[in-house]
Amino acid sequence: MARDVAAGGGQKITYTTSDVDMDAFHARFDEALEAVRAAAGEEHSLWLGGREVGGSHEPIADVTPMDTSFLLGRFEAAGEEEVAEAVAAGRRGQRAWGGRPWEERVEILRRAASLIRERKHRLAATMSLEVGKSRLESMGDAEESADLIDYYCSQMEDTDGFRREMARVTPHERNIDVLRPYGVFACISPFNFPLALSAGMSSAALVAGNAVVYKPAEQTPWTGLLLYEIYMEAGVPSDVFSYLTGRGEEAGEPLWRHPGVDGVVFTGSREVGMRIHAGLSREWIKPCLMELGGKNAAIVMDTADLEAAAEGVARGAWGLQNQKCSATSRVYVHRDVADEFVRLLLERTAEDVVVGDPTERDVNYGPLIEPSSVERYERAVARAREEGELLTGGGRLTDGDLGRGLYVEPAVARLPLSSELFVRELFVPFLAIGEVSGLDDALRETNRAPYGLTSGIFTGRDGEIERFFDEVEAGVTYANKRTGATTGAWPGAQPFCGWKGSGSTGKGGCGPYYVAQFMREQSRTVIGGDA
Ligand code: NAP
Repeated sequence: MARDVAAGGGQKITYTTSDVDMDAFHARFDEALEAVRAAAGEEHSLWLGGREVGGSHEPIADVTPMDTSFLLGRFEAAGEEEVAEAVAAGRRGQRAWGGRPWEERVEILRRAASLIRERKHRLAATMSLEVGKSRLESMGDAEESADLIDYYCSQMEDTDGFRREMARVTPHERNIDVLRPYGVFACISPFNFPLALSAGMSSAALVAGNAVVYKPAEQTPWTGLLLYEIYMEAGVPSDVFSYLTGRGEEAGEPLWRHPGVDGVVFTGSREVGMRIHAGLSREWIKPCLMELGGKNAAIVMDTADLEAAAEGVARGAWGLQNQKCSATSRVYVHRDVADEFVRLLLERTAEDVVVGDPTERDVNYGPLIEPSSVERYERAVARAREEGELLTGGGRLTDGDLGRGLYVEPAVARLPLSSELFVRELFVPFLAIGEVSGLDDALRETNRAPYGLTSGIFTGRDGEIERFFDEVEAGVTYANKRTGATTGAWPGAQPFCGWKGSGSTGKGGCGPYYVAQFMREQSRTVIGGDA
């Protein structure tokens, strides 16, 4: 029988549902936000094997994208020397950690999940400020983090710590199969889900018995520090989890290249992921768990409920300003309903998108993460104007307080199917719409992208849903999902596996096979004795 996500943790905000008292939620969020703002501007160290350390590069100024002059904190930036110290600490601590009964690791990590739930308002307020997430999006991130940890712990429980009795070939032998940790994992995370992805990747590595050297994204070191503190308080040994802030080239690159690293778990862009995958294995093949970018298509057929499709696409496209790996970034709509669908989509966009400071109660659309994202948006808009028709948006928003941040309008363009804007990940609020003649056409266009993360269809024909599931090249698929055409996956409900350029292992986070990937198999045969 399926487990109910909401049943697990009492009142909860996910990316698609909320069963909480919203007034109480906002009151607690306001309190937390005030506390986070009051704590802003401090200097923070690296924590390597429990030692507070400075970095060898220029510290990182962590600012909020709502006001790039507001300093959230100054964070030390690691280089090769600090990487070496963190990896050495991990190598020292891992053997004892991996040798402990798995039940003890589960107990510690479940405690971390509880601490996340206790502090979720503070965590959400921090993420809202660091990333420019709306209140609901950032609370979803915090809740997901705790659920991910619990879900990964349950994978140890359900399998007796991945230990099983095997068949005997002779009566005098006993055969046991065990999965054992690799050693030290480098864990490198992106900015957009700074807690859920960091907690998800690192907790799976830890519960499996590995040590972790964790490098958060440059834009989200504060959220990363809060995760570090939670792990320490929960009882993760300090030599088993190091917090290493720094820049991608200065800290990330030497981290995965370090010979003492036994495996890498990475979530981020295809470009960086491919680089790591291609360079990691030298003397022998190391595990390299990559969750990469997406170019997620929604297909709208002529029988679709067009209101639902427009709402699903608008939610999938404008949530977190399209800076989600699962964001809907292109639509293939049947030509017979294209005009009506576009009309409804523009209506939904105009009515539902509330632009502003996303730490505020009713705002659901904030700024982009950094100036290079704004430039990428402007280039895409210019190209769309050349190649097709820009239906809405395209400009920077600078009125009043918006001028302090990195705000752009949601943009929708109708483009010829040959446009390269249909296949390149932009990670900005730019939605490409193309017309198709039927499902064959729509599937061919969808599968043309080098990515294969999420995809959705809106149709009134059951047969088309089955064909879509069978033929679309994507790991996360949805049919008729009004709450987000291609978005909203949750641990234990929608495994998040990227195909093609969106991932490396064919097994995703949020899914039942995740933790096993942080372990290697050993078969143990004993002859005689009590066999
Ligand atoms: P990114 O630029 O690839 O950065 C991800 C992480 O890699 C950051 O910590 C970054 O550090 C680090 N990094 C950069 N260069 C590196 C190098 N040479 N060696 C090691 N580490 C390096 O991605 P992002 O902009 O943060 O996040 C957006 C991307 O992540 C999008 O492509 C999105 O689709 C993808 N994503 C995928 C999933 C999924 O589950 N499939 C989920 C979320 C996001 P700095 O921050 O210091 O540059």
